[in-house]
Amino acid sequence: MKIYISADIEGVCGSTHWDEANKDKGDYREFQQQMTAEVKAACEGAFAVGAHEIMIKDAHATGRNIIQGELPSNTQLIRGWSGHPYSMVQELDDSFAAIMFIGYHARAGSDGNPLAHTMSSSVVDYLKINGRFASEFLVHGYVAASFGVPLVFLSGDEAICQESLSIVADIRTVAVKKGIGNSTVNIHPQQAIDLIRSGVEKALSGDLELCRLPKPDKYQIEIRFKKQIQAYKASFYPGVTLIDSQTIAYASDSYFDVMRMRSFVI
Ligand SMILES: [Zn+2]
Repeated sequence: MKIYISADIEGVCGSTHWDEANKDKGDYREFQQQMTAEVKAACEGAFAVGAHEIMIKDAHATGRNIIQGELPSNTQLIRGWSGHPYSMVQELDDSFAAIMFIGYHARAGSDGNPLAHTMSSSVVDYLKINGRFASEFLVHGYVAASFGVPLVFLSGDEAICQESLSIVADIRTVAVKKGIGNSTVNIHPQQAIDLIRSGVEKALSGDLELCRLPKPDKYQIEIRFKKQIQAYKASFYPGVTLIDSQTIAYASDSYFDVMRMRSFVI
């Protein structure tokens, strides 16, 4: 069983302020450590129930956060950014039995996490797919859907757990914190690690087929930018239309095309 893990930092236990997600700040080390520990726990849970190969994408900021030496040895870690449109799920394909999301967070415009955003906190006001406000989970979940890979587990803030359950009813989630205004209420970091390990074991022991996200026939994308110049510039991408001074629309039946558009306009 080959497993893919995409990991972020804004949804790990404790992280609350941008300084804690920024490599250049002293506050960051503790949360880099927690991100690593949560990913390690997910790997251990997966290996305990029969995974034989795990690929991990370090999907926060520089893509160079996870301390690789602390992970189990039979894992591969993708560091940095290739420039491929699949972004936070680079190298995902139909050879994987399941995908899991660690440290994921509430979408742009949501009140579920002080660090809520979608892809870029300075560029995107909101992103909608087929009329639904989209998180990074949904944006990348549709990549998994396009390969038929089940979405089996997610850990992060309570809001993203609820959102993921509304999209994939049988996904197993672990909420490690709840955002309230600019604060977070967190479980203990060791408890987060323990719950992720046991949650992953249960997720991969269940019927993975129940966790498939159906592939829509067509994708209607709407992106509202923070600034009008961002929308104006994006409007020149082939197939993009400007619907108001800050908002663009795009439609395609190919999710690769959607992700390619996204990688050029955001
Ligand atoms: Zn991030």
